[in-house]
Amino acid sequence: MKKLFLIIGAPGSGKTTDASIIAKNNENIVHYSTGDMLREEVGSGSDLGKEIESYISKGALVPLQIIVNTIVSAINQAPVDVVLIDGYPRSVEQMNAFDTLVEKEDNIDLLSVIEVRVSQDIAKERILGRAADAKAGEERSDDSIEVFWDRMKIYTDPLEEIQAFYTEKNLLKVISGERALEVVVEDMEGFVKSKI
Ligand code: AMP
Repeated sequence: MKKLFLIIGAPGSGKTTDASIIAKNNENIVHYSTGDMLREEVGSGSDLGKEIESYISKGALVPLQIIVNTIVSAINQAPVDVVLIDGYPRSVEQMNAFDTLVEKEDNIDLLSVIEVRVSQDIAKERILGRAADAKAGEERSDDSIEVFWDRMKIYTDPLEEIQAFYTEKNLLKVISGERALEVVVEDMEGFVKSKI
């Protein structure tokens, strides 16, 4: 049985960094980022990767079936039982698709959806910092101010509905991402460990 945590947060919230540190600290926990998995496929140069890149470079969401396949295969292939996935769900459609899937699957137990919350100002500062790093050599096609606002809007539009859905199921946990990295990590790690 896979014990799953979904982690959501605005671009620049730090969700991927937080979750990857937690996985590094704990050998019984593994972490996958939807953005990183999609970028890996892009990096492979496959036809699927080319299709994915056409969405990522615009800051748009990749189609439902692609992202569902990506996370389901990550969960199934995870080498340990506790799985953190950040970057999903990002739409009401994705949330509903996953809900149906988890109901059918005996193998997945969704323990919580963690929202890493930051203000839009902080998110913007962090993304623009990353855009400067990207110019210095890191590879992300979507860390620019133009694409930032599209990504932010895509994140915030369905957020209330997603929050309401998981609050109703008693699964939503909000963590402030505006504090120092170590503090956010400690908070999230403590929460995850309290649930497993
Ligand atoms: P991230 O690294 O989480 O900011 O994701 C980078 C990009 O990957 C997003 O802007 C989307 O184009 C794509 N992506 C990541 N997660 C998802 C998802 N759950 N659904 C659709 N597209 C996604």
